[in-house]
Amino acid sequence: MKNLKKILAIVLAAVFVFALAACGSKEEAQSLTIEEGKLIMATNATFPPYEYYDGDDIIGIDAEIAKLIADKLGLELEIEDVEFDSIIPGVQSNKYDIGMAGMTVTDERKEMVSFSDSYAKGVQVVIVKEDSAIASIDDLEGKKIGVQQATTGDIYASDDYGEENVTKYANGNLAVEGLKSGKVDCVIIDNEPAKAYVAANEGLKILDTAYAEEDYAISLNKSNTDLQKKVNDALKELIADGSVQKIIDKYISAK
Ligand code: GLN
Repeated sequence: MKNLKKILAIVLAAVFVFALAACGSKEEAQSLTIEEGKLIMATNATFPPYEYYDGDDIIGIDAEIAKLIADKLGLELEIEDVEFDSIIPGVQSNKYDIGMAGMTVTDERKEMVSFSDSYAKGVQVVIVKEDSAIASIDDLEGKKIGVQQATTGDIYASDDYGEENVTKYANGNLAVEGLKSGKVDCVIIDNEPAKAYVAANEGLKILDTAYAEEDYAISLNKSNTDLQKKVNDALKELIADGSVQKIIDKYISAK
């Protein structure tokens, strides 16, 4: 009898532990905020025309596409403005449901997060001062290059020209300030923000030759395959009915 009680207690304890473990893994896979009706998007709002401030609001291509996706999912979009290099860790820890920041799909990032289908193309370009001696990408050897920390511009430039020649800024604004004050000789950054920075600052230009071509996509937690599918389904519809193009035209082509 005593033994039976003991066995029963052990079995009950085991069931309890299993149940707890199951709950834990469910929490990991499914964000709690989504259960509360919110879709939390992490971005870095220094990246016009994809995400930037208009007064207190974050607007731009990514912000508008994300809003339409959230609408389709019946969720309320909440945007959090963070450093670019904390987006992926935050998606990995489920702090954010999606990362959307003109983010390029790369093999290294695919090890850490999953990506939606691509919704836009990006090109890495080089910004220099109008009177710069740098005329093309071939002149970059040994020059001081400014980049945004942890972006593909940073990764490629560090690989191609050596870490010691690359100054990493927290965001694009600061990199362009570094160029204007002569701390760096050029800035490698995505083409659309580059155009916006050149338009907003006197005496800068973009070199004709592109440095690298890339695909932008939304990053998600690897275990959240359900959300990935829903985001992809929503994106497909929004691409098919022309909504994505309309948003891109509003911020880029139509200008
Ligand atoms: N497309 C670049 C990257 O993913 C830059 C993105 C950004 O600065 N927001 O690394």
